[in-house]
Amino acid sequence: MSHQIDIEKVRADFPILSRKVNGHPLVYFDNAATSQTPKVVIDAIVEYYEQYNANIHRGVHSLSQEATDAYEQARETLRAHFNAAKKEEIIFTSGTTHGINLVANGFASQLKAGDEVIVSALEHHSNIVPWQMLCEKTGAQLKVIPMTNSGELAMDAFHELLSDKTKLVFVNHVSNALGTINPIETIISEAHKKGAAVLIDGAQAAPHIKADVQALDVDFYVVSGHKMCGPTGVGVLYGKEEWLIKLPPYQGGGEMIDQVTFEKTTYAGLPHKFEAGTPNICGGIAFGKAIEYLNGLGFENIAAYEHELLTYATEQLLAVGDVMIYGTSSEKTAVISFNIEGIHPYDIGTIIDKLGIAVRTGHHCAQPIMDYYKIPGTVRASFSFYNTKEEIDAFVQAVKRAKIMLS
Ligand SMILES: *Cc1c(COP(=O)(O)O)cnc(C)c1O
Repeated sequence: MSHQIDIEKVRADFPILSRKVNGHPLVYFDNAATSQTPKVVIDAIVEYYEQYNANIHRGVHSLSQEATDAYEQARETLRAHFNAAKKEEIIFTSGTTHGINLVANGFASQLKAGDEVIVSALEHHSNIVPWQMLCEKTGAQLKVIPMTNSGELAMDAFHELLSDKTKLVFVNHVSNALGTINPIETIISEAHKKGAAVLIDGAQAAPHIKADVQALDVDFYVVSGHKMCGPTGVGVLYGKEEWLIKLPPYQGGGEMIDQVTFEKTTYAGLPHKFEAGTPNICGGIAFGKAIEYLNGLGFENIAAYEHELLTYATEQLLAVGDVMIYGTSSEKTAVISFNIEGIHPYDIGTIIDKLGIAVRTGHHCAQPIMDYYKIPGTVRASFSFYNTKEEIDAFVQAVKRAKIMLS
């Protein structure tokens, strides 16, 4: 795979990348937690507040019209990006966690005791806890697809778990803790054969892989703006129209109603039925700009370049010695979760931060994965298309230094 990322040009798009941290050039390898923001997105945020900040959908005045048009244009950008059949299937949320809770809450009306729902061992807590709450409410049973030592899903076990009792399957497209790309095409088609709906947590995949929701035939796909070069506090839930019609609203309030009387309230049509209250208008507009920016680079270019970084970083890091990498699937995004024998991940993270290098340490909101490996956590370095091999060299040198200091 070759790429066409002009790295110097790309880096110049991200103001934060030129700052220093603790006296050293920032090396930002915590992209799986949140991505950095290009100038075009920052400019869109400033422009919104300087030029046309207004509430949307209701006002007759010009600013309100401008804000409504920009917000709805962003919805269209997102629809086109994920290839949803209709704009009504794109629900703005505050992020992945909100999107999953919205669907889990809606399914309380669809499940009964004796039904089964299937999760995987590789999930972020956001894609575990809302479903546990749903099971408590409905009496449905939560089944878990186990993982293997390489950090992949045990697909044989998935086939055995599926039955006529299965109503819903929810797995992530990419594991945030290990980077594993899961075989969601198979999961979706097998689940559908049993009549079960499928929700894919795309938070970690969306910055690297362009998902086509119609080709996947997925029922729900959720993402967060802040992992895709957009701002925090905004995300998208894609839902098939038939499901969004069937599920009850999540929150009640303004924007989501048709008519309100004390006797009876009727709800607005899609997508507004699921968008109660004043939304993150500026965030939605900026998210649309971020999607345009990523598409301008091209997702194939992004994936090819990030794969180069992953391969290089894996080789260099293993050469340090006593390094254990967790998540060794051949299908993975640019995430390296690792430990050095006898050293606590937190200590490595703290020392390399002094050298300007930002990584995540801990359980990465995926405690079941850490339990599987019987470790308290890992050091996670996660790369983006704006990172470089030189930064990886600096990171590896810093890890070497930490290893010498700590052993
Ligand atoms: C980040 C992440 C989430 C949670 O996203 P929020 O933006 O915090 O709501 C859920 N699942 C995965 C796989 C993630 O990477």
